Amino acid sequence: MLGTFITLNIYDSDVDEGIVDNCFELVSQYEKMFSYYDSSSELYQLNQNAYKNPFKVSDEMYDIITESLDYCRKTDGAFDIGLGRLIEIWDKAVISSKPPNSDEISDYIGFKGYEHIVVNGIDKTVYFSDERVSIHLGACAKGFVQDKAVTFLKECGVKSALLDFGGSIYALGTKDSKPFSIGITDPTSESELAGAVQITDLSVVTSGNYRRFFEYNGVVYHHIIDSATAFPSQSDINGVSVICESAFKSDCLSTASFVLGAESAEALLSDENCGYVIITDESVRSNGVIFKNEK
Ligand code: AMP
Ligand code: MG
Repeated sequence: MLGTFITLNIYDSDVDEGIVDNCFELVSQYEKMFSYYDSSSELYQLNQNAYKNPFKVSDEMYDIITESLDYCRKTDGAFDIGLGRLIEIWDKAVISSKPPNSDEISDYIGFKGYEHIVVNGIDKTVYFSDERVSIHLGACAKGFVQDKAVTFLKECGVKSALLDFGGSIYALGTKDSKPFSIGITDPTSESELAGAVQITDLSVVTSGNYRRFFEYNGVVYHHIIDSATAFPSQSDINGVSVICESAFKSDCLSTASFVLGAESAEALLSDENCGYVIITDESVRSNGVIFKNEK
C-alpha cells in the first residue's frame, strides 16, 4: 500500500484482532484518495481539473495540501508538492532506466510548483495558476496516513505498537517498558546498520538515494528531484532520518533535507526542533537523539 510494504505490530495482549484489519482499511481509503496514477483517485481528478477551474476537494485533501504547502514555503521549495509533472518524467526514466532528454525537462528548471497552487479555505477549493503544476504527494502522504493510523490505534486503546510504512517508522508507547530501538540503514551497504535510535511516541522517517534509482552510462539517478536543476538532487547527503512527534512533518522534512544538503538541513531541522541523523560520504551528524553506532 502507498507504494510500499506496510507492517503493523501491536504488542498489547488484550486488543481485538479486528483492529488490524480496520487499520489497513483506513490506510487503503487514504491510498484511494492520494494515489497519483489511479484515475479514480481524488488526487487524479484534482490534477486533471484544477488548472482550468478551482476544484472542490474533501476536507482531508484540503488539509494535506495546505499543511504540505507550509513545508514547501519553509523549505523554499526543496520539498515541493507541485512538481508532479516533473516527477512523472523521472518515474518514466526509472522504468526505462534512461534519463529524460534535456528538452523534456527544460521547462521545469528552476520551476517552483507550489507557488502556483492557490487554495481557498472557505470553499475548500484548489486551483493551479500555471499549466506545469500537478500535485504529487509521494514525499508526504505516507507520513500523513501513518499519523492517522496512530490516532486510530490510540482511540482503540492500543498502548504499544510499531508501525512500519517502508522507511517511515512510528513507535507508539514502549515495548517491555523500554523505548523501541530503530535501526538506521547504512546508505552504502543496505544490509548493515549505521546505528540505531531509541524512541517512544515518535516517528523516524528516512529519505535516501539508495532505495529507488537506476544507473545509466555509469551515472546513478535516484528518485528525489531538485527543482533548481530538474534533476535528481546532487546534495552531499546519502541518507537523512528525521525524528519528531508527527510522521507527516518528519516525511516532509526528510525529503527537503535530502535536497538541501547537510549544512542547510542541520539548520532547518534544528529550527524545527527535530532529531536527525544525516549521513554523507564524510560524516554522520546527529543531534540530541540517542544515536548508537553499532558497527
Ligand atoms: P521521500 O521518500 O519521502 O523522500 O519521497 C520521495 C518521493 O517524493 C519521490 O519518489 C517522488 O515521488 C517525490 N519527490 C521527489 N522529489 C521531490 C521533491 N523535491 N519534493 C516533493 N516530492 C518529491
Ligand atoms: Mg518524505
